[in-house]
Amino acid sequence: MWLPLLQRTLPRVGLRWQHRAAIEVANEPVLAFMSGSPERAALQKALSDLKGKTEAIPCVVGGEEVWTADIRYQVSPFNHSHKVAKYCYADKDLLNKAIDAAVAARREWDLWPVQERAAIFFKAADMLSGPRRAEILAKTMVGQAKTVIQAEIDAAAELIDFFRFNAKYAVELEGQQPISVAPSTNSMVYRGLEGFVAAVSPFNFTAIGGNLAGAPALMGNVVLWKPSDTAMLSSYTVYKILLEAGLPRNVIQFVPADGPVFGDTVTSSEHLCGVNFTGSVPTFKRLWKQVSENLDRYHNFPRLAGECGGKNFHFVHASADVPSVVSGTLRSAFEYGGQKCSACSRLYAPASLWPRIKAELLEEHREIKVGDPTEDFGTFFSAVIDNKSFERIRKWIKHAETSPNLSILAGGGCDDKVGYFVQPCIIETTDPKDPIMQEEIFGPVLSVYVYPDNQYKEILQLIDSTSPYGLTGAVFAQDKSVIAEATKLLRNAAGNFYINDKSTGSVVAQQPFGGARVSGTNDKPGSPYYILRWTSPQAVKETHAPLGGWKYPYMQ
Ligand code: NAD
Repeated sequence: MWLPLLQRTLPRVGLRWQHRAAIEVANEPVLAFMSGSPERAALQKALSDLKGKTEAIPCVVGGEEVWTADIRYQVSPFNHSHKVAKYCYADKDLLNKAIDAAVAARREWDLWPVQERAAIFFKAADMLSGPRRAEILAKTMVGQAKTVIQAEIDAAAELIDFFRFNAKYAVELEGQQPISVAPSTNSMVYRGLEGFVAAVSPFNFTAIGGNLAGAPALMGNVVLWKPSDTAMLSSYTVYKILLEAGLPRNVIQFVPADGPVFGDTVTSSEHLCGVNFTGSVPTFKRLWKQVSENLDRYHNFPRLAGECGGKNFHFVHASADVPSVVSGTLRSAFEYGGQKCSACSRLYAPASLWPRIKAELLEEHREIKVGDPTEDFGTFFSAVIDNKSFERIRKWIKHAETSPNLSILAGGGCDDKVGYFVQPCIIETTDPKDPIMQEEIFGPVLSVYVYPDNQYKEILQLIDSTSPYGLTGAVFAQDKSVIAEATKLLRNAAGNFYINDKSTGSVVAQQPFGGARVSGTNDKPGSPYYILRWTSPQAVKETHAPLGGWKYPYMQ
């Protein structure tokens, strides 16, 4: 569908004309999966096809499938006896081969016309939207323990949107040209970066992996993609879809690897020209430090893009609409088990509203089903990703059980016999600076601090200064002057700021995502600014008249 449309929109009849064309792209509709719907039937079939299956996932280097002896397994978080993928780690030698293969492919790929590169991503988006939708959803559900809706907004809607909007922005960027003054014409050539980009993805969004590797590739770069160990099944499917859509084999090298081995190898290559990372703060800091230590080796200053964690807040004012606070907070804190960088993990409630908010939160909390999302579509969230996460979250719950400042109001039970299950936990704290209010937990744990109504301005300052993160936050208030005040005081506390809405659920091209402080470099994936990170523009001046003598007239 997109290729003919592109060809119609951008007939190859001269650059200028092409550049002016705007491409219409809309967000992918989120399907409802109601009982009896065709999408539900297709998903159920895809889920049953995965039952008990283990997919073999090789490294793909230089266009060849390669197996090393370092075999690993990805298990289903809600049933850890099910190995969903068997894969292998690339070692240092294989990673260096991947770098060589990528660098060798760079010049030719970079010279492809942008509309032809874009056509591949439009095609991949169409495949994900249509024939491959059920497959990618099922693999995201089984491998990363997502519910139907969480898989749909991630592996279908967001990934499709990333591919389509990035492609649109890339083509339209060519239309941004400098002015020309006779007798010269000026133009800007949007080149890829000279070297390879290392894309390192987290487990929690299938879409993010596709975007971290895909966006630089779209812009003419070659990429080494290191997927997350716990998102291998869905990542490999995205990779294969890109190849089937026409991506030349050497543009993205698919290299599962031990994190530090990958980081050490790519940062010590002279060809490194970019790191496109999403994950935790310590990992990104480590990569940044390694790049700075190796700076003298590189041919370029590598571009470093990192989207990291958050300690996201919901601030509730006494004028807030309580049902919005309750449903927004339950969704933000507990959907996908709180394993979203934008998940609300600290709630500030005014004393006057707290009894009502608390009663409603606890009542709704009883309705939350935690379980196997493939067997019961009524599941609100499932197991957390792996044993490491399970233990980390359990430690926080133990901290709440033993700290005099904290009381557990509901949930917090942990059981890892079948899967890594943690019941949604609501904690009240009397100390707004307790570590539980400052550090990222990345699990289904919500902490609440109740403040005296008349101190809301001090609370806004407290929210701003409590944690080192600056990712997302929400203000719930009907009083316009409070909203204005909060917007001002929390200006640096969140890169994605919500008014009377929950702190999660950003949509590509609507709320481009990312935060500052230790939350990252805030490059706003899902916006036109993001693709600029992956291009190195060349300004070209062509003069159409002889240059004349070298002496200036005033010198005569
Ligand atoms: P992580 O940092 O543990 O891992 C991220 C990736 O880095 C994985 O592929 C991992 O294997 C790799 N890695 C680990 N050590 C490495 C090293 N030394 N060198 C190179 N790569 C290395 O993070 P995670 O647990 O996968 O993801 C959760 C984190 O990601 C949370 O902090 C969350 O907030 C953050 N996150 C942020 C955003 C955002 O847009 N801001 C989105 C999703 C997740």
